[in-house]
Amino acid sequence: MRHPLVMGNWKLNGSKHMTADLIAGLRNALSSVDGCDVAIAPPVMYLGQAHQDIAGSHITLSAQNVDINLNGAFTGEISAEMLKDIGVRYVIIGHSERRTYHKESDELVAKKFAVLKDAGLIPVLCIGETEAENEAGKTKEVCSRQIDAVLNTLGVEAFNNTVIAYEPVWAIGTGKSATPAQAQAVHKFIRDHIAKKNAAVAQQLILQYGGSVNDKNASELFAQPDIDGALVGGASLKADAFSAIVKAA
Ligand code: PEP
Repeated sequence: MRHPLVMGNWKLNGSKHMTADLIAGLRNALSSVDGCDVAIAPPVMYLGQAHQDIAGSHITLSAQNVDINLNGAFTGEISAEMLKDIGVRYVIIGHSERRTYHKESDELVAKKFAVLKDAGLIPVLCIGETEAENEAGKTKEVCSRQIDAVLNTLGVEAFNNTVIAYEPVWAIGTGKSATPAQAQAVHKFIRDHIAKKNAAVAQQLILQYGGSVNDKNASELFAQPDIDGALVGGASLKADAFSAIVKAA
């Protein structure tokens, strides 16, 4: 039985004040919630504060990125061990914004996946097609290519205790979510793709949907058999909206 996971990606938003306020609001709204794993991904510089502010709650921490190097002369980078040291559990990798603005390749994302597994952190591997790829009927081709970069280098067992977030790029931050049926079809394709290598690994894999999830569309998305929660951007910045999404899961 898979436990749903709802994760808030704060992206480049936050301050000390906002971190304290948002976490206090979430703690309050989610104190009696059971049966759904909850994580927040503040900007890296607020992870330490967030770790203190979530103490004693069942909210966990995610980072938004990691470097492939462990230490040394890599100015400005953050290693997996540093994230682990500060109390992080999950790390988002392969987000479309990093693939686009930072030119992160499938191969680099696969290296990040490996570094996280080695450190005992849980990768949240983001995949998904652009609008043009969607219109060209290439959704499955793009998703399988992005997964295969990990599958072919690390083997299917690497997907044990990990998360894949299907995030169609055209749905991120646009207010135009995939329909539950569209999302379910791709999620089933992803699970079947992994199952071809190992059915047990596919069964336990957490498959999140991401792309304009809000408190109105969450329930219907979560009712789909292969959608195990959500990676939430914009709506994760408001305690009431994010809590409502968690409760829907
Ligand atoms: C995201 O950043 O991963 C995301 C899904 O954003 P939004 O919910 O704002 O579409």
